[in-house]
Amino acid sequence: MKGVEFQGKMFIFTAPSGAGKTTLVRHLLSKYKFLDFSVSATTRDKRPHEINGKDYYFMSIDEFKESIDKGLFIEWEEVYENQFYGTLKSEVDIIWKKEKHLVFDIDVRGAKNIKRFFDEKCMSVFVRPPSIDTLIERLTLRNTETSQSLRKRIEKVKREMTFENSFDIILVNDVLEVSFVEAENIVETFIFGVPTS
Ligand code: ADP
Ligand code: 5GP
Repeated sequence: MKGVEFQGKMFIFTAPSGAGKTTLVRHLLSKYKFLDFSVSATTRDKRPHEINGKDYYFMSIDEFKESIDKGLFIEWEEVYENQFYGTLKSEVDIIWKKEKHLVFDIDVRGAKNIKRFFDEKCMSVFVRPPSIDTLIERLTLRNTETSQSLRKRIEKVKREMTFENSFDIILVNDVLEVSFVEAENIVETFIFGVPTS
């Protein structure tokens, strides 16, 4: 008897920087072995705890531009000045070949492009902070940015917040444990049709 053919799906978590998407994505990846993270390429500096090839593929601006010219990206954006981020086509192929569903953590413009491209295979989630002040506080407490990069991120927040209705679901990330359950329900419903826990 022939097995059921694997139908690759994907989840996008998008939001302004500091809203909590990486936290939610890490939780989902640790809970569900059928999910895998789509590792993006970036030209920004590596943060001390980050691992090349696991958190990002860190590239020079020249390498990144060469990859654009070779048509290696599904989408890419200059998210901040001289900081490029992009999703490599090879990443989607590799993960679906492993029969896993993808999880993306990308900015709002990239998220809209991926959603448009993959359409019903894709569930897009906008992570909204309870307020802009809370987001700024979280970003500051995260303590990963220089004062300049913190300012760049905060400057973009208001505009990015106007994108919230462009996605399938808005998840308000207030109490983290509640957000974890909400994110689990989104994943289970999209994969299995109903929440299973
Ligand atoms: P993003 O990936 O959207 O930039 P992060 O996941 O890095 O955001 O979260 C920003 C900071 O806020 C991190 O230090 C994280 O631990 C913290 N954080 C995330 N969600 C919550 C929450 N619901 N309550 C309090 N702090 C949170
Ligand atoms: P950070 O520097 O905080 O890791 O990411 C900055 C922003 O770039 C975040 O909004 C993050 O989601 C976004 N980002 C990460 N990878 C990609 C990608 O492949 N494409 C796009 N368009 N944005 C990305």
